Amino acid sequence: MEEKLEFGANRLVHLDLKRAPLKVDFMEKIFPFFREWGATGLLIEWEDTFPYSDSLECIGSLNVESKAYSVADIERILKLAENSNLSVIPLVQTFGHLEFVLRHEEWKQLREVWKYTNALCPSNPKSLSLVTSMIDQVISKMPKDLQYFHIGADEVWQLGSCSFCSSQDKHVVLLEHLVSVLKHFKENYPHIRPIMWDDMIRGVPASLIQAHSLSELVDIMVWFYEPAPFFNIPIDLWNKYATIFKKVWIASAYKGATGACQILPVIQHHVSNHEQWLAFIKSSRAEIKGIAITGWSRYDHFATLCELLPSALPCLAICLSICKENEYTEEIFKKVATSLGYDQVPLLTNPYPRPQAVAPDLNYPGWKITTGVEWLANLKGKHMAIISSDQVGAWMNSWQLSTGFINPMQIQGIVSTLFNIGEEWEALETYMRDHMSEAYYQPQIEEWIATHCKPLKGKAKELYKSGHDLISAQLGTESLQMPTQFFPTPRPI
Ligand SMILES: [Zn+2]
Repeated sequence: MEEKLEFGANRLVHLDLKRAPLKVDFMEKIFPFFREWGATGLLIEWEDTFPYSDSLECIGSLNVESKAYSVADIERILKLAENSNLSVIPLVQTFGHLEFVLRHEEWKQLREVWKYTNALCPSNPKSLSLVTSMIDQVISKMPKDLQYFHIGADEVWQLGSCSFCSSQDKHVVLLEHLVSVLKHFKENYPHIRPIMWDDMIRGVPASLIQAHSLSELVDIMVWFYEPAPFFNIPIDLWNKYATIFKKVWIASAYKGATGACQILPVIQHHVSNHEQWLAFIKSSRAEIKGIAITGWSRYDHFATLCELLPSALPCLAICLSICKENEYTEEIFKKVATSLGYDQVPLLTNPYPRPQAVAPDLNYPGWKITTGVEWLANLKGKHMAIISSDQVGAWMNSWQLSTGFINPMQIQGIVSTLFNIGEEWEALETYMRDHMSEAYYQPQIEEWIATHCKPLKGKAKELYKSGHDLISAQLGTESLQMPTQFFPTPRPI
């Protein structure tokens, strides 16, 4: 039976590696799952994890602490993708989101606005050679039969802002830079078809796009990550694309699209996004080349980590199943959830509110990281409930602690509870240090712990110490019957 291809022939998993490289050993574990779940390829956004050399050395992995990746790592990643029958499309930003380049002293002269690291000034004669050097270096390490190359080009926040660019029409500035970059492909890599994000040309008149022959040079990838009822692609826009480009790529999301501080994927959001895409494709009879299921690691190079990739694998598996089956049903959800080990504890389509039961044993790479993040979500809730409780507010507030005006009977219990919370934070930190290392390098582990554990652990311990010291001073240490050792629950609940 012929496979239905509502989403096109390509189902790509987006690996956003910006300041979040995955260990190559972990890729070895997950690539076969991607294929099994329905992926046909990978859209790999290397950002600062690629071993750029020569004049570009400072922007890549040869200059970052994790040293991810070496040239040998890149070769191994590509081999692993090939072994799992996954095609590879590299993504290199060429206009906006160049924070990882423009933050460096060596390249700050090319900023569109001197204060901001986002966008490149296309009028600077050195800009094009920077971009083409990046493209050349990445292509030189890719498979010889590389078919596609994604040039990014989304969210050029400061487009047309410098004194030179602002004297021209912004749309023309945009298109001329794109055409320069795309001609580099046409002249040097005629066998590679470039792809770009569509958002910057949404407002550009069709006649101008056509006048620059964009459709001859590039495919567009139309991205919308919203669920119902917010999923709304203007029909005028779609018709414009249909007129100019014969076929388009589309992009959905499985993580990193529901909040810059999100820690657990909201599966129902992403399922709805895919259902909306499916309905839209069917109703518009659009011709789709393929879909990239994006999984953003951060909102930009400087932002905090969103959902860790392992914790979003169940969501990815479901999204891929929808793309493969061209429908979403409860049976599909149950089948995927069961295959991942969610039988005793259900896989939640919305991880909130907390607390929620945490599955004791699952069946996919990195699931212990998911368990740890679930534990974090529960512990955060418990912590906040105590810190903002009436008991703390009425008997242990900062005035009472600073003056020593306390009622020991009231705060004895809180102090004991705070001790336990502090120790549970300690246990979570140890647990994540042990298990995050399966997928991540040390800098990302340290960043995650410093972001999510240390501040609240510090707060709990500080409050505990203040209460403990006051009671000890007034009543003696024997009045505090503290547990001498904290026993973390066998399963984080
Ligand atoms: Zn400029």
